[in-house]
Amino acid sequence: MTSALTSCFDTPRSFRMALLALPMSYTYEPPNRGAHFYVHLTRICDVVCDHCMYSSDGSNTSGARMRLEDVDIELALQYIIDSTPAKITISGGGEPFLELDSLLQLLQKAHCPYIEIDTAANWAGASEVTKRILKQICSASRRNPSSPRLIIRASIDKFHMTAFNPVPLEAYVNLVHAWLPFRDHIELGFRGLILEDDRSVEALADALGGGISSRDSCNKVISLPGHVTLPVTFNVLRFTGKGSQLQKKLADRTLSLQQYFAPFEDSPERLVLSRAINDAVKAKYYPYDGVSITLDYDGSLHVFTATAPDRRCNIRTHTFAESLKWFYGDPITRVLLSEGPYWLCETLQPVAPSLVADALRRNDVCSLVETLLSDARICGFVTAIALKALINSGLANPLTRHVILDQLQAASFADLQLEAIQALGRDLQ
Ligand code: SF4
Repeated sequence: MTSALTSCFDTPRSFRMALLALPMSYTYEPPNRGAHFYVHLTRICDVVCDHCMYSSDGSNTSGARMRLEDVDIELALQYIIDSTPAKITISGGGEPFLELDSLLQLLQKAHCPYIEIDTAANWAGASEVTKRILKQICSASRRNPSSPRLIIRASIDKFHMTAFNPVPLEAYVNLVHAWLPFRDHIELGFRGLILEDDRSVEALADALGGGISSRDSCNKVISLPGHVTLPVTFNVLRFTGKGSQLQKKLADRTLSLQQYFAPFEDSPERLVLSRAINDAVKAKYYPYDGVSITLDYDGSLHVFTATAPDRRCNIRTHTFAESLKWFYGDPITRVLLSEGPYWLCETLQPVAPSLVADALRRNDVCSLVETLLSDARICGFVTAIALKALINSGLANPLTRHVILDQLQAASFADLQLEAIQALGRDLQ
Protein backbone atom coordinates (compact mmCIF):
# COMPACT_ATOMS: atom_id res chain seq x y z
CA MET A 1 0.00 0.00 0.00
CA THR A 2 1.35 3.42 -0.89
CA SER A 3 1.63 6.22 1.61
CA ALA A 4 -0.69 8.42 -0.50
CA LEU A 5 -3.50 5.89 -0.21
CA THR A 6 -2.74 5.30 3.45
CA SER A 7 -3.14 8.99 4.18
CA CYS A 8 -6.47 8.97 2.30
CA PHE A 9 -7.83 6.56 4.89
CA ASP A 10 -6.93 9.09 7.58
CA THR A 11 -9.32 11.62 6.05
CA PRO A 12 -12.17 9.37 4.91
CA ARG A 13 -14.73 12.10 4.21
CA SER A 14 -12.48 13.98 1.82
CA PHE A 15 -11.27 10.65 0.40
CA ARG A 16 -14.88 9.74 -0.45
CA MET A 17 -15.54 13.20 -1.92
CA ALA A 18 -12.39 12.93 -4.04
CA LEU A 19 -13.47 9.51 -5.35
CA LEU A 20 -16.99 10.75 -6.11
CA ALA A 21 -15.54 13.70 -8.04
CA LEU A 22 -13.36 11.58 -10.34
CA PRO A 23 -14.52 11.82 -13.95
CA MET A 24 -15.95 8.41 -14.91
CA SER A 25 -17.90 6.96 -17.73
CA TYR A 26 -20.26 4.16 -16.81
CA THR A 27 -21.43 1.44 -19.16
CA TYR A 28 -25.04 1.81 -18.10
CA GLU A 29 -27.24 4.83 -17.54
CA PRO A 30 -29.69 5.13 -14.65
CA PRO A 31 -33.11 3.66 -15.52
CA ASN A 32 -35.77 6.12 -16.52
CA ARG A 33 -38.50 4.81 -14.25
CA GLY A 34 -39.30 4.01 -10.67
CA ALA A 35 -40.37 0.67 -9.24
CA HIS A 36 -41.88 0.97 -5.77
CA PHE A 37 -42.29 4.46 -4.32
CA TYR A 38 -42.57 4.58 -0.51
CA VAL A 39 -44.00 7.78 0.98
CA HIS A 40 -43.70 8.54 4.69
CA LEU A 41 -46.10 11.41 5.33
CA THR A 42 -45.11 12.07 8.93
CA ARG A 43 -42.90 10.89 11.74
CA ILE A 44 -45.59 11.67 14.30
CA CYS A 45 -47.65 8.83 15.68
CA ASP A 46 -49.93 8.94 18.68
CA VAL A 47 -49.92 5.19 19.35
CA VAL A 48 -46.30 5.18 20.65
CA CYS A 49 -45.46 1.48 20.49
CA ASP A 50 -42.59 -0.01 22.47
CA HIS A 51 -41.27 -1.76 19.34
CA CYS A 52 -41.42 1.20 16.94
CA MET A 53 -38.46 0.97 14.55
CA TYR A 54 -38.92 4.68 13.80
CA SER A 55 -39.21 5.68 17.48
CA SER A 56 -42.33 7.58 16.46
CA ASP A 57 -44.34 9.42 19.06
CA GLY A 58 -46.44 12.55 19.35
CA SER A 59 -43.59 14.97 19.92
CA ASN A 60 -41.11 16.95 17.93
CA THR A 61 -38.21 17.14 20.30
CA SER A 62 -35.55 17.69 17.65
CA GLY A 63 -37.24 20.71 16.05
CA ALA A 64 -36.67 19.01 12.67
CA ARG A 65 -39.23 18.81 9.87
CA MET A 66 -41.60 16.01 10.87
CA ARG A 67 -44.15 15.94 8.05
CA LEU A 68 -44.40 16.46 4.34
CA GLU A 69 -45.83 19.90 3.72
CA ASP A 70 -48.21 20.90 0.91
CA VAL A 71 -45.31 21.90 -1.32
CA ASP A 72 -43.72 18.45 -0.81
CA ILE A 73 -46.96 16.70 -1.76
CA GLU A 74 -47.14 18.73 -4.98
CA LEU A 75 -43.53 17.84 -5.73
CA ALA A 76 -44.19 14.19 -4.85
CA LEU A 77 -47.07 14.10 -7.34
CA GLN A 78 -44.77 15.43 -10.05
CA TYR A 79 -42.05 12.96 -9.02
CA ILE A 80 -44.62 10.16 -9.41
CA ILE A 81 -45.63 11.41 -12.86
CA ASP A 82 -41.97 11.50 -13.92
CA SER A 83 -41.03 8.14 -12.40
CA THR A 84 -44.18 6.10 -13.20
CA PRO A 85 -43.78 3.70 -10.28
CA ALA A 86 -45.65 0.40 -10.41
CA LYS A 87 -46.71 0.74 -6.80
CA ILE A 88 -46.90 3.42 -4.10
CA THR A 89 -46.95 2.57 -0.41
CA ILE A 90 -47.98 5.35 1.95
CA SER A 91 -46.80 4.33 5.36
CA GLY A 92 -45.06 5.16 8.65
CA GLY A 93 -42.72 5.86 10.56
CA GLY A 94 -45.63 7.79 11.70
CA GLU A 95 -49.36 7.45 11.17
CA PRO A 96 -50.42 8.50 7.65
CA PHE A 97 -54.03 9.07 8.70
CA LEU A 98 -52.79 11.96 10.88
CA GLU A 99 -52.12 13.66 7.53
CA LEU A 100 -55.51 12.93 6.03
CA ASP A 101 -55.52 15.89 3.61
CA SER A 102 -52.16 14.88 2.11
CA LEU A 103 -53.26 11.26 1.99
CA LEU A 104 -56.44 12.18 0.09
CA GLN A 105 -54.44 14.35 -2.32
CA LEU A 106 -52.13 11.46 -3.16
CA LEU A 107 -55.03 9.04 -3.55
CA GLN A 108 -56.84 11.38 -5.89
CA LYS A 109 -53.93 12.57 -8.02
CA ALA A 110 -51.05 10.06 -7.95
CA HIS A 111 -50.60 8.49 -11.37
CA CYS A 112 -50.07 4.91 -10.31
CA PRO A 113 -51.95 1.64 -10.82
CA TYR A 114 -51.50 0.28 -7.29
CA ILE A 115 -51.57 2.14 -3.97
CA GLU A 116 -51.20 0.68 -0.50
CA ILE A 117 -51.81 2.55 2.76
CA ASP A 118 -50.27 1.13 5.94
CA THR A 119 -51.87 2.24 9.18
CA ALA A 120 -52.16 1.44 12.87
CA ALA A 121 -55.96 1.94 12.54
CA ASN A 122 -56.32 3.79 15.83
CA TRP A 123 -58.46 6.32 13.92
CA ALA A 124 -61.10 3.57 13.64
CA GLY A 125 -62.12 3.72 17.31
CA ALA A 126 -65.56 5.20 16.60
CA SER A 127 -67.82 3.57 14.05
CA GLU A 128 -69.25 6.75 12.45
CA VAL A 129 -65.83 8.41 12.12
CA THR A 130 -64.41 5.25 10.53
CA LYS A 131 -67.21 5.15 7.96
CA ARG A 132 -66.73 8.83 7.14
CA ILE A 133 -62.98 8.47 6.64
CA LEU A 134 -63.36 5.37 4.48
CA LYS A 135 -65.91 7.21 2.36
CA GLN A 136 -63.40 10.04 1.82
CA ILE A 137 -60.65 7.53 0.96
CA CYS A 138 -62.90 5.70 -1.46
CA SER A 139 -64.13 8.81 -3.27
CA ALA A 140 -60.61 10.26 -3.56
CA SER A 141 -59.25 7.11 -5.18
CA ARG A 142 -62.29 6.82 -7.46
CA ARG A 143 -61.57 10.33 -8.77
CA ASN A 144 -58.01 9.26 -9.61
CA PRO A 145 -57.74 9.00 -13.43
CA SER A 146 -55.41 5.99 -13.02
CA SER A 147 -58.18 4.03 -11.23
CA PRO A 148 -55.64 2.52 -8.85
CA ARG A 149 -56.05 -0.75 -7.08
CA LEU A 150 -56.20 0.39 -3.44
CA ILE A 151 -55.44 -1.62 -0.31
CA ILE A 152 -55.44 -0.52 3.32
CA ARG A 153 -53.29 -2.69 5.57
CA ALA A 154 -53.66 -2.33 9.31
CA SER A 155 -50.94 -3.37 11.74
CA ILE A 156 -52.20 -5.73 14.39
CA ASP A 157 -49.95 -7.22 17.05
CA LYS A 158 -49.55 -7.25 20.78
CA PHE A 159 -47.32 -4.15 20.73
CA HIS A 160 -49.96 -2.01 19.04
CA MET A 161 -52.62 -3.38 21.38
CA THR A 162 -50.60 -2.62 24.54
CA ALA A 163 -48.93 0.63 23.43
CA PHE A 164 -48.92 3.91 25.36
CA ASN A 165 -52.14 4.74 23.45
CA PRO A 166 -53.22 1.21 22.63
CA VAL A 167 -55.21 0.29 19.54
CA PRO A 168 -58.20 -1.60 20.97
CA LEU A 169 -59.51 -4.75 19.32
CA GLU A 170 -62.73 -2.82 18.81
CA ALA A 171 -60.95 -0.44 16.38
CA TYR A 172 -59.96 -3.33 14.09
CA VAL A 173 -63.48 -4.76 14.31
CA ASN A 174 -64.94 -1.32 13.49
CA LEU A 175 -62.59 -1.00 10.56
CA VAL A 176 -63.71 -4.31 9.08
CA HIS A 177 -67.40 -3.54 9.56
CA ALA A 178 -67.06 -0.02 8.11
CA TRP A 179 -65.04 -1.37 5.18
CA LEU A 180 -67.57 -4.01 4.07
CA PRO A 181 -69.75 -1.59 2.03
CA PHE A 182 -66.61 -0.32 0.24
CA ARG A 183 -65.03 -3.67 -0.51
CA ASP A 184 -65.64 -3.44 -4.26
CA HIS A 185 -63.32 -0.40 -4.31
CA ILE A 186 -60.94 -0.85 -1.39
CA GLU A 187 -59.13 -4.01 -0.34
CA LEU A 188 -58.41 -4.53 3.34
CA GLY A 189 -55.65 -6.63 4.89
CA PHE A 190 -53.61 -6.85 8.07
CA ARG A 191 -49.96 -6.96 9.06
CA GLY A 192 -48.85 -9.11 11.98
CA LEU A 193 -45.61 -10.19 13.57
CA ILE A 194 -43.92 -13.58 13.52
CA LEU A 195 -43.91 -14.08 17.28
CA GLU A 196 -45.09 -17.36 18.75
CA ASP A 197 -47.14 -15.92 21.59
CA ASP A 198 -48.85 -13.15 19.63
CA ARG A 199 -52.51 -14.14 19.28
CA SER A 200 -53.81 -10.73 18.14
CA VAL A 201 -54.90 -11.91 14.70
CA GLU A 202 -56.71 -14.91 16.22
CA ALA A 203 -58.49 -12.54 18.62
CA LEU A 204 -59.64 -10.41 15.67
CA ALA A 205 -60.89 -13.43 13.72
CA ASP A 206 -62.84 -14.59 16.81
CA ALA A 207 -64.34 -11.14 17.37
CA LEU A 208 -65.49 -11.06 13.75
CA GLY A 209 -66.97 -14.56 13.95
CA GLY A 210 -64.52 -15.77 11.30
CA GLY A 211 -61.82 -18.39 10.93
CA ILE A 212 -58.14 -18.39 10.01
CA SER A 213 -56.30 -20.52 7.49
CA SER A 214 -52.56 -20.55 6.73
CA ARG A 215 -51.20 -20.02 3.23
CA ASP A 216 -47.52 -20.28 4.11
CA SER A 217 -45.22 -19.36 6.99
CA CYS A 218 -45.71 -15.62 6.39
CA ASN A 219 -49.32 -15.47 5.23
CA LYS A 220 -52.70 -16.28 6.67
CA VAL A 221 -56.24 -15.46 5.64
CA ILE A 222 -59.13 -14.47 7.87
CA SER A 223 -62.36 -15.83 6.38
CA LEU A 224 -65.62 -14.17 7.29
CA PRO A 225 -69.18 -15.27 6.60
CA GLY A 226 -70.33 -14.38 3.07
CA HIS A 227 -67.03 -15.40 1.39
CA VAL A 228 -65.24 -12.29 2.61
CA THR A 229 -61.49 -12.80 3.09
CA LEU A 230 -58.83 -10.62 4.68
CA PRO A 231 -55.15 -11.37 3.94
CA VAL A 232 -52.73 -11.18 6.86
CA THR A 233 -48.99 -10.89 6.18
CA PHE A 234 -46.53 -11.55 8.98
CA ASN A 235 -43.15 -9.87 9.27
CA VAL A 236 -40.21 -10.25 11.61
CA LEU A 237 -39.75 -8.12 14.69
CA ARG A 238 -37.16 -5.41 14.01
CA PHE A 239 -34.75 -4.37 16.73
CA THR A 240 -34.04 -0.89 15.57
CA GLY A 241 -35.26 2.47 16.88
CA LYS A 242 -37.15 1.80 20.10
CA GLY A 243 -37.25 -1.89 19.17
CA SER A 244 -33.55 -2.16 20.05
CA GLN A 245 -34.58 -2.30 23.71
CA LEU A 246 -36.54 -5.50 23.05
CA GLN A 247 -33.65 -7.33 21.44
CA LYS A 248 -32.39 -9.23 24.49
CA LYS A 249 -35.82 -10.55 25.43
CA LEU A 250 -37.20 -11.39 22.00
CA ALA A 251 -34.33 -11.99 19.54
CA ASP A 252 -34.69 -15.77 19.63
CA ARG A 253 -38.47 -15.66 19.24
CA THR A 254 -38.71 -14.15 15.78
CA LEU A 255 -37.17 -15.16 12.45
CA SER A 256 -33.87 -13.55 11.52
CA LEU A 257 -33.63 -11.07 8.67
CA GLN A 258 -31.78 -13.63 6.56
CA GLN A 259 -34.34 -16.39 7.24
CA TYR A 260 -37.26 -14.10 6.41
CA PHE A 261 -35.77 -12.73 3.20
CA ALA A 262 -34.25 -15.98 1.87
CA PRO A 263 -37.24 -16.61 -0.46
CA PHE A 264 -36.67 -13.19 -2.03
CA GLU A 265 -33.01 -13.72 -2.94
CA ASP A 266 -32.47 -13.91 -6.70
CA SER A 267 -29.45 -16.13 -6.08
CA PRO A 268 -28.05 -17.38 -2.74
CA GLU A 269 -27.41 -14.44 -0.39
CA ARG A 270 -28.13 -11.91 -3.11
CA LEU A 271 -31.04 -9.84 -1.99
CA VAL A 272 -31.91 -7.17 -4.52
CA LEU A 273 -34.85 -5.22 -3.14
CA SER A 274 -33.86 -1.86 -4.57
CA ARG A 275 -35.20 -2.81 -7.98
CA ALA A 276 -38.31 -4.67 -6.88
CA ILE A 277 -41.99 -4.23 -6.09
CA ASN A 278 -42.87 -5.24 -2.56
CA ASP A 279 -46.28 -6.85 -2.72
CA ALA A 280 -46.58 -7.35 0.99
CA VAL A 281 -50.13 -8.56 0.50
CA LYS A 282 -48.60 -11.75 -0.85
CA ALA A 283 -45.28 -11.35 1.02
CA LYS A 284 -43.42 -11.28 -2.28
CA TYR A 285 -40.88 -9.01 -3.93
CA TYR A 286 -41.18 -8.88 -7.71
CA PRO A 287 -38.11 -7.89 -9.76
CA TYR A 288 -38.78 -4.77 -11.81
CA ASP A 289 -36.84 -2.70 -14.33
CA GLY A 290 -36.95 0.49 -12.26
CA VAL A 291 -35.60 1.82 -8.97
CA SER A 292 -37.44 1.71 -5.64
CA ILE A 293 -37.26 5.04 -3.88
CA THR A 294 -38.34 6.24 -0.45
CA LEU A 295 -39.59 9.76 0.25
CA ASP A 296 -39.25 10.51 3.96
CA TYR A 297 -41.33 12.93 6.02
CA ASP A 298 -38.48 15.50 5.94
CA GLY A 299 -38.51 15.54 2.13
CA SER A 300 -35.37 13.41 1.78
CA LEU A 301 -35.15 10.80 -0.95
CA HIS A 302 -33.10 7.61 -1.05
CA VAL A 303 -32.91 4.41 -3.06
CA PHE A 304 -34.34 1.63 -0.90
CA THR A 305 -31.47 -0.45 0.59
CA ALA A 306 -28.87 1.18 -1.69
CA THR A 307 -28.03 4.69 -0.45
CA ALA A 308 -25.28 5.86 1.88
CA PRO A 309 -26.62 8.26 4.55
CA ASP A 310 -24.61 11.17 3.15
CA ARG A 311 -26.05 10.63 -0.33
CA ARG A 312 -29.71 11.33 0.36
CA CYS A 313 -31.13 14.22 -1.62
CA ASN A 314 -34.33 16.21 -1.24
CA ILE A 315 -37.54 16.43 -3.22
CA ARG A 316 -37.35 20.24 -3.02
CA THR A 317 -34.04 20.29 -4.84
CA HIS A 318 -34.09 17.22 -7.10
CA THR A 319 -36.50 16.09 -9.79
CA PHE A 320 -36.76 12.35 -10.44
CA ALA A 321 -34.16 12.46 -13.23
CA GLU A 322 -31.80 14.62 -11.16
CA SER A 323 -32.15 12.37 -8.12
CA LEU A 324 -31.31 9.25 -10.14
CA LYS A 325 -28.28 10.96 -11.64
CA TRP A 326 -27.20 11.91 -8.12
CA PHE A 327 -27.75 8.41 -6.70
CA TYR A 328 -26.01 6.71 -9.63
CA GLY A 329 -23.05 9.07 -9.22
CA ASP A 330 -22.12 7.05 -6.12
CA PRO A 331 -20.27 3.79 -6.84
CA ILE A 332 -21.71 2.37 -3.60
CA THR A 333 -25.26 2.77 -4.88
CA ARG A 334 -24.34 1.27 -8.26
CA VAL A 335 -22.88 -1.84 -6.62
CA LEU A 336 -25.69 -2.19 -4.09
CA LEU A 337 -28.30 -1.89 -6.85
CA SER A 338 -26.80 -4.87 -8.63
CA GLU A 339 -25.41 -6.92 -5.74
CA GLY A 340 -27.80 -6.10 -2.91
CA PRO A 341 -27.13 -5.15 0.73
CA TYR A 342 -25.51 -8.44 1.74
CA TRP A 343 -22.56 -7.48 -0.51
CA LEU A 344 -21.88 -4.71 1.99
CA CYS A 345 -21.99 -7.16 4.91
CA GLU A 346 -19.52 -9.47 3.16
CA THR A 347 -17.19 -6.59 2.25
CA LEU A 348 -17.16 -5.26 5.79
CA GLN A 349 -17.01 -8.60 7.58
CA PRO A 350 -13.18 -8.77 7.76
CA VAL A 351 -12.92 -5.06 8.55
CA ALA A 352 -15.63 -4.47 11.14
CA PRO A 353 -17.18 -7.80 12.19
CA SER A 354 -18.95 -6.42 15.27
CA LEU A 355 -20.54 -3.66 13.24
CA VAL A 356 -21.84 -6.20 10.70
CA ALA A 357 -23.12 -8.50 13.46
CA ASP A 358 -24.87 -5.59 15.17
CA ALA A 359 -26.43 -4.35 11.92
CA LEU A 360 -27.73 -7.85 11.12
CA ARG A 361 -29.00 -8.33 14.67
CA ARG A 362 -31.21 -5.28 14.21
CA ASN A 363 -33.18 -7.51 11.83
CA ASP A 364 -34.20 -4.59 9.64
CA VAL A 365 -33.44 -4.55 5.95
CA CYS A 366 -34.67 -0.93 5.60
CA SER A 367 -31.92 0.51 7.82
CA LEU A 368 -29.18 -2.08 7.16
CA VAL A 369 -27.18 -0.06 4.64
CA GLU A 370 -27.45 3.23 6.52
CA THR A 371 -26.38 1.53 9.75
CA LEU A 372 -23.33 -0.02 8.10
CA LEU A 373 -22.30 3.22 6.38
CA SER A 374 -23.00 5.70 9.18
CA ASP A 375 -19.28 5.94 10.07
CA ALA A 376 -17.39 8.18 7.63
CA ARG A 377 -14.32 5.92 7.79
CA ILE A 378 -16.35 2.90 6.73
CA CYS A 379 -18.09 4.93 4.02
CA GLY A 380 -14.74 6.10 2.59
CA PHE A 381 -13.38 2.58 2.51
CA VAL A 382 -16.52 1.12 0.88
CA THR A 383 -16.50 3.87 -1.78
CA ALA A 384 -12.96 2.82 -2.74
CA ILE A 385 -13.88 -0.88 -2.81
CA ALA A 386 -17.04 -0.22 -4.83
CA LEU A 387 -15.23 1.94 -7.37
CA LYS A 388 -12.47 -0.61 -7.73
CA ALA A 389 -15.05 -3.40 -8.22
CA LEU A 390 -16.85 -1.39 -10.93
CA ILE A 391 -13.60 -0.62 -12.78
CA ASN A 392 -12.37 -4.22 -12.51
CA SER A 393 -15.59 -5.55 -13.97
CA GLY A 394 -15.55 -3.00 -16.82
CA LEU A 395 -18.70 -1.25 -15.61
CA ALA A 396 -16.85 2.02 -14.94
CA ASN A 397 -14.05 3.59 -16.93
CA PRO A 398 -11.93 6.50 -15.67
CA LEU A 399 -11.95 9.38 -18.13
CA THR A 400 -8.60 10.70 -16.93
CA ARG A 401 -5.69 9.25 -15.05
CA HIS A 402 -5.48 10.21 -11.42
CA VAL A 403 -2.97 9.35 -8.76
CA ILE A 404 -5.60 7.97 -6.38
CA LEU A 405 -7.06 5.76 -9.09
CA ASP A 406 -3.65 4.42 -10.08
CA GLN A 407 -2.96 3.53 -6.49
CA LEU A 408 -6.40 2.07 -5.99
CA GLN A 409 -5.87 -0.17 -9.01
CA ALA A 410 -2.41 -1.21 -7.86
CA ALA A 411 -3.74 -2.30 -4.46
CA SER A 412 -5.53 -5.63 -4.01
CA PHE A 413 -8.89 -5.89 -2.22
CA ALA A 414 -7.03 -7.55 0.66
CA ASP A 415 -4.60 -4.58 0.80
CA LEU A 416 -7.51 -2.18 1.02
CA GLN A 417 -9.19 -4.22 3.72
CA LEU A 418 -5.96 -4.33 5.70
CA GLU A 419 -5.53 -0.59 5.33
CA ALA A 420 -9.10 -0.01 6.50
CA ILE A 421 -8.55 -2.26 9.52
CA GLN A 422 -5.49 -0.24 10.48
CA ALA A 423 -7.23 3.09 9.89
CA LEU A 424 -10.27 2.07 11.89
CA GLY A 425 -8.24 0.75 14.79
CA ARG A 426 -9.90 -1.81 17.02
CA ASP A 427 -12.96 0.23 17.91
CA LEU A 428 -15.20 -0.95 15.07
CA GLN A 429 -14.09 -4.58 15.11
S1 SF4 B 1 -48.20 2.54 15.22
FE1 SF4 B 1 -46.44 2.18 13.87
S2 SF4 B 1 -45.51 4.21 13.59
FE2 SF4 B 1 -46.89 4.33 15.36
S3 SF4 B 1 -45.58 3.99 17.14
FE3 SF4 B 1 -46.50 2.01 16.54
S4 SF4 B 1 -45.00 1.06 15.18
FE4 SF4 B 1 -44.48 3.26 15.32
